[in-house]
Amino acid sequence: MPGLYIHIPFCRQKCHYCNFFSIASKKYINEIVQAIQTEVRSNSGFFNGSPLNTIYFGGGTPSLLSINQINEIIDTAIATFGIDPNAEITVEANPDDLINSWLQALSQTVVNRLSIGVQSFRNEDLTYLNRVHSANQAESAIQNALKYGFKNISIDLIYAMPTLDNEQWIENINRALSYNIPHISAYALTVEPGTALDLFIKKGKYKQVEEEKVAEQFQIIMTSMAKSGYEHYEISNFALPDRYSRHNKSYWSGESYLGCGPSAHSYNGFIRRWNVSNISNYLKAVREGTTYYELEELTKNQQFNEYIMTALRTMWGVDTEFVKKLFGNDFATHLNNQLKKPLELGLILQKNQKFILSDQGKLFADGIAAELFIS
Ligand code: SF4
Repeated sequence: MPGLYIHIPFCRQKCHYCNFFSIASKKYINEIVQAIQTEVRSNSGFFNGSPLNTIYFGGGTPSLLSINQINEIIDTAIATFGIDPNAEITVEANPDDLINSWLQALSQTVVNRLSIGVQSFRNEDLTYLNRVHSANQAESAIQNALKYGFKNISIDLIYAMPTLDNEQWIENINRALSYNIPHISAYALTVEPGTALDLFIKKGKYKQVEEEKVAEQFQIIMTSMAKSGYEHYEISNFALPDRYSRHNKSYWSGESYLGCGPSAHSYNGFIRRWNVSNISNYLKAVREGTTYYELEELTKNQQFNEYIMTALRTMWGVDTEFVKKLFGNDFATHLNNQLKKPLELGLILQKNQKFILSDQGKLFADGIAAELFIS
């Protein structure tokens, strides 16, 4: 189920918490659109002739692209790889870009899914995060998207900001649920080194994120979403039954994906590669036909660890029979031994040959996965 990821590394302004590769400028946007198409074409053999199942425009802010630019990239991708007739084609969008004219034009394209970076319906939180949009724009973005016929919508929410108490978090969730959209992603605010947020906290200008609040607000969203019939299919993702993000699900199931654009990552089960995180260097290398990525061939141990890391985060869990088949008896024995402790502690639950994180375990997913790794 091949997936194509397109990274658009431009934003109107930098959010305080952001550590994605993007710059607060639209300079070079035309050059990047052309270079991405060159990169797509030069990887025509990446999926060995299998057609694309998903295309995902992420960033950065893909909604800064014109509809013509989006169409151009999609046309090039389809001409290069072919596409499944039921492919999922997603564009990430910021609320301030979802105005009538852009949405109306987008609704005439083959794009069939929108992922909207709402983050919060409260101005106080949006100012804290340094988002460019307002709470009103967040609401009208969703309303406009629905008006123009987009039924497959996801919105992102952030919790555990110092500006957001538990009551306000419940109101934010209820606001999101009131639109009856099929998919909601919720991320705890994390302070990444080198971000403006990190600097402000170190300088004492902003309060530190409280671990207790992270746990409480994570529990709140798990409870609310379950009550409303959403499946918690990945630690940060909730969907109505069968309305998962097919593109992201393919990452978590170890499918092949090609990432194009500066800083984009690619994976085919055996090789992982990542493009240079620098716009000028990327453009120059693509123009001159030189290497624009670093590449790592995965050892069997790394492939196993990759599987554990991704599968454990999902509601389908880690499958010991699958491990036995794909990696062999030694790996299955190692896994069964390492699973004993988290099982005893109630951090992992067993369903036949599958091992799934409990709600408590979801708070410590990375640490638990690390305990299951082979070094
Ligand atoms: S819009 Fe997204 S990518 Fe751009 S700065 Fe904000 S969080 Fe980062």
